[in-house]
Amino acid sequence: MRPKEIVVTSGKGGTGKTTLTSALAASLGKVALCDADVDAPDLYILLNPSIKTDYAFWGMDTAQVDPSKCIGCNRCIESCRFNSISMINGKAVVDTHFCEGCATCAYVCPTSAISMVPTRQGTYYESTTDFGPMWHAQLFPGGENSGKLVQILREKAKETASKEGIPYIITDGPPGVACPAISSITGCNFTITVTEPSMSALSDLKRLAQVARRFSVPMGVVINKADLSPNISAKIKEECFKDNIPIIGEIPFSEDIPRAISERKIPLKEMKAEIDNIVKKVFELLG
Ligand code: SF4
Ligand code: SF4
Repeated sequence: MRPKEIVVTSGKGGTGKTTLTSALAASLGKVALCDADVDAPDLYILLNPSIKTDYAFWGMDTAQVDPSKCIGCNRCIESCRFNSISMINGKAVVDTHFCEGCATCAYVCPTSAISMVPTRQGTYYESTTDFGPMWHAQLFPGGENSGKLVQILREKAKETASKEGIPYIITDGPPGVACPAISSITGCNFTITVTEPSMSALSDLKRLAQVARRFSVPMGVVINKADLSPNISAKIKEECFKDNIPIIGEIPFSEDIPRAISERKIPLKEMKAEIDNIVKKVFELLG
């Protein structure tokens, strides 16, 4: 049986996406987990995974100069549109943080001093948690190719879930609508989008809904801290109704939730009824 992949997303950070992901995992009991928020992973804080294996994540190729072959002719510097090369003591030096991997410098170099080499951008991990296997990662500061890393994590989580006969994968997606967020939802079975009652969150929700529609991903919305602004919560429901997006849950504000998180506890009992309701609705929508 192919596992079904549910990705928890949010138009903006700080809406409660990771809290909901952890509570869903705890509620379902046995799932495969994937933290696709590779730029700022924090699911591990609540799930406390034990790392089984770590793997190097290699991003795109970047330019590397062999100083013994460099004659200091400056051609590479003149050709680099990204200002990634400097001349230091008569030898060209590439700043890989700014190199876009276009290979123009390697093409123009008269002495073949420049080669394109894969660059390590971070580490990804296979771990175990109390609720099942987990794939997660950490990009190096300024690390590139986060969309590619998200794809790797999702594939690994699918392989593990299939091998171990786990029916559901719960993925903590990156916030926003940029490349990693798109990479986290394309081809998934369902996305639960967590929002909160503010006009900026509503605006971000609309953008995310457009992306989900563009990639034919079914979406359901959870309004977190819904009672903090009943008027804006009503507006969110109205907009979702217009766009045919189901509201699958509303979670009222409770001081017990941030208190549990500050103690590194999953706040499942603090919102058990709401989580049960969300799970029921997601299963209905997944068929
Ligand atoms: S083009 Fe080649 S030889 Fe010329 S400065 Fe650059 S690396 Fe050195
Ligand atoms: S590969 Fe392209 S971006 Fe990178 S240093 Fe060479 S010319 Fe510049």
